[in-house]
Amino acid sequence: MHAASKQPAPARQRISVLGATGSIGSSTLDVIAQHGERFEVVVLTAQDNAEKLAALAKQFRPQLVAIGNAAHEKTLKDLLAGTGIKVVAGEEGVLEAASVPVELSVCAIVGAAGLAPTLAAVKNASRIALANKESLVCAGPLVMQACVAHGTTLLPVDSEHNAIFQVLATEHRSQVEKITLTASGGPFLKRELASFGNITPAEAVAHPRWNMGTKISVDSATMMNKGLELIEAHYLFGLKPQQLDVLIHPESIVHSLVHYTDGSVLAQLGMPDMRIPIGYALSWPDRLPLSTPRLDLASIGALHFSAVDEARFPCLGLARSALSQGAAAMVALNAANEVAVAKFLASEISYQDIARIVAATLNVADTAPISSLADAMEADKAARAHAAETSRNA
Ligand code: NAD
Ligand code: MG
Repeated sequence: MHAASKQPAPARQRISVLGATGSIGSSTLDVIAQHGERFEVVVLTAQDNAEKLAALAKQFRPQLVAIGNAAHEKTLKDLLAGTGIKVVAGEEGVLEAASVPVELSVCAIVGAAGLAPTLAAVKNASRIALANKESLVCAGPLVMQACVAHGTTLLPVDSEHNAIFQVLATEHRSQVEKITLTASGGPFLKRELASFGNITPAEAVAHPRWNMGTKISVDSATMMNKGLELIEAHYLFGLKPQQLDVLIHPESIVHSLVHYTDGSVLAQLGMPDMRIPIGYALSWPDRLPLSTPRLDLASIGALHFSAVDEARFPCLGLARSALSQGAAAMVALNAANEVAVAKFLASEISYQDIARIVAATLNVADTAPISSLADAMEADKAARAHAAETSRNA
């Protein structure tokens, strides 16, 4: 026997995937399936889709699965009977799942509902691959401080922030002038403003470049997504609001740019495929070989850039206002947006009401500090109630 063959195989990294049935969850599991030798899935969670969660559990064999909506607990237990996989349910169940000690936790729950599980994961994982931008919007300082307190590395999954993370050398952090987040402009970049009142949910979720969950698809159409990302970047990279720029780039090839004080600008490019930033977050500081479509600039031919028309995309300005107003305003921005987007998707309000409801909620937002998870939840609840009330009069 050769000496080399006596060496134990490197241990696989234990991973939890919170929000496993979603768009990011699915892309994550696709990357993991391509690299079964490196990763071992130990926890999966979902909110409603017991069938999909059970199918994923049978494929990846975690120790524990959690279904947020306890009404589906029995279905999930029946589907996993005899597998030995433990099933838990409800918000408590998701928190239990997020608290399992792992090397890496992928936080891909959508909305403020991801905040408590993300904080639990930060306390129990060595590394966090963070897709749930709303947790930073609602409680950026809490999440960042918890990472420091628990020695947890935070790796951004959002493509723009992952791009910045890739080109922002630690030794040059103090020499950053500003960053530019690119935005595709979504489906309504060129639509006649006069017809915005007729926008349907189906039109709003039909994103030209990315295939994503419905909430973030609507956020991309309104550009609230870019507003949430400005706040996300503020916390992740410790940059001032005036150092955060947004640029429309419809091809979504340049994922973001870092401008240094010497005039150099560094960018990360790639096809619009979330498996690339996810793969980098999973394997950091290495790079994984991935079978994703390759960038062919000659066939793309030209890349386009333009400034944002804030009259077309008022949500971006609202996010900037919330960032300058403070922590409780950011919670209110997010909560009102979640309420409004859900009502728009249910055809209860118009597309333009989304920005109106967010603006009205922001006007009455609290100015109290957010120093705990309970503070954030309380501000979230109050803003949701105000947004729901405003939407009834919309
Ligand atoms: P999605 O709607 O496709 O999936 C959301 C996941 O969260 C599902 O697994 C769902 O079961 C779970 N979930 C929903 N509500 C829950 C609740 N109350 N409690 C527990 N779990 C719940 O969303 P997505 O597009 O995968 O986005 C997930 C997160 O990643 C969002 O924060 C989004 O902004 C961010 N993100 C997504 C993309 C993308 O390409 N999809 C890109 C960048 C960032
Ligand atoms: Mg993004």
